[in-house]
Amino acid sequence: MNTLVENQPKTDGHDPHGAAQEIDWADYRDHLTTADKDGNRRWVYAKKPAGFWYEHRTHLSWLLIAVMFAGPWIRIQGNPLLLVNIVERRFSILGQIFWPQDTLIFAVAMLLFFAGIMIFTTAFGRLWCGWTCPQTVMMEMVFRKLEYLIEGDSAEQRTLDATPWTRSKVLKKGFKHVVFFAASFIVGNTLLAYIIGSEQLLHIQLDDPRNHVVGLTFMVLFSLLFYAIFARFREQACTFICPYGRFQSALLDENTLLVAYDQKRGEARAPLHRNETFSQRRAEGKGDCVNCRACVAVCPTGIDIRNGVQMECVNCTACIDACDTIMDKVGQPRGLVRFASLNNISHGTPQRFTPRMALYSVVLTGLISLFLYLVFTRCDVDTTLLRAPGSLFQVTAEGRIENLYTMKVVNKTMHDIPLTMRLENLPGTVRVMGSGEFIVPAAKLAQTSVLIELAPTQLHQANTKLKLGIYNAQGKLLQTVTTAFAGPRESGHHEETEKHENERR
Ligand code: SF4
Ligand code: SF4
Repeated sequence: MNTLVENQPKTDGHDPHGAAQEIDWADYRDHLTTADKDGNRRWVYAKKPAGFWYEHRTHLSWLLIAVMFAGPWIRIQGNPLLLVNIVERRFSILGQIFWPQDTLIFAVAMLLFFAGIMIFTTAFGRLWCGWTCPQTVMMEMVFRKLEYLIEGDSAEQRTLDATPWTRSKVLKKGFKHVVFFAASFIVGNTLLAYIIGSEQLLHIQLDDPRNHVVGLTFMVLFSLLFYAIFARFREQACTFICPYGRFQSALLDENTLLVAYDQKRGEARAPLHRNETFSQRRAEGKGDCVNCRACVAVCPTGIDIRNGVQMECVNCTACIDACDTIMDKVGQPRGLVRFASLNNISHGTPQRFTPRMALYSVVLTGLISLFLYLVFTRCDVDTTLLRAPGSLFQVTAEGRIENLYTMKVVNKTMHDIPLTMRLENLPGTVRVMGSGEFIVPAAKLAQTSVLIELAPTQLHQANTKLKLGIYNAQGKLLQTVTTAFAGPRESGHHEETEKHENERR
């Protein structure tokens, strides 16, 4: 005999003043569950989840939060783990410094990102959203938990919101918002550290504020943005702002693993009466769903999973835990709400690797291989060698031919690189103008003038192809660049050409 008694709620549990509001359970197709028919917001009072999946999600979120906050301070070979400095156009991923010049790598990385999303969503639905997305992790595992600590579980929160403003309510709400803003300030600063780098962030924080008006303004803006998201927008950030939820329906198919309600087993849903057995229920055509709405009560996006796949569902699995708890109580097998595909629920077919997934996997593997190849064969420097504007060639007193070039070098590492140059395909001399030393500062672009000198006997046409090797201080070849060397039309005519050049000057 079970002890679960009919407990059909009369409200949707989202409106603090909803005690007197009757719910039309069938109107979910007409509007978002978090908005009423007039478009007004219905606040979601999600009940604190508990259970197998929530426990695992909590452990994973600790790891993710630790990585997220430590990320800007972690260095790999002296480079940040992740840096997305859009302002200075410097990027570091897993300690590898990228420049805007690395367009091919960026293009492949973007393709990889989108292909990864496609295959992951096709196979596992929106697992990313519920389990690893920073917005969900911070909302559910930090801000929501702070709220439970300060205001209590959903019932207490609803009661608090419905009561008139008293001193204790002002204190409680005020305290919650101060804590929320402090947490948002930490999140905002972390994001800023990913953009400008942790050293720069520390510098802004510790230096005279008058020197960092822009940086401090962004610090406040980011803090306010996150405060607004976590204190106010919450699930609306996923529903209205994030594009991923919008296009997921184009990626899902009947074999996609989703958080799903087994309607074959659960319907017809009906409250469980005292002393009613499940054999009696089945004889009466009732299903295993006892219509307790525990799955709805815990949903952070306020939806009813029994209505099928919905845009708002972030696959957080809270409803699985809630329903499993109810099934344990009523003595029925777990899994009325579970991870399953439509085919699995409708036809009992096991999860399978579909041709669509296979195709995506091949594309993804190819892109990963290409990306790794490009990253690990990438030069530490990126050199551009162009003949100096307006110059052609010069003939020295010894009769050798000279060309002047402008050399630009991007240093993609976080240490200074002294460079030397050598001709690779012809004998000749290469001289750096000025001090004769060329050091490219860490993560910077440097420019110099380079004079290349060849014997006229090396030249057999007006333009001779040159290969210039760029070496570091240890003599390691970093890059080879090609350029054209201008000379007299015929090598024997260089004296005539010298005269011509001198006349031109
Ligand atoms: S329906 Fe379930 S899995 Fe989807 S968001 Fe709500 S609680 Fe999470
Ligand atoms: S928690 Fe399970 S039994 Fe209760 S309403 Fe949801 S699906 Fe039905």
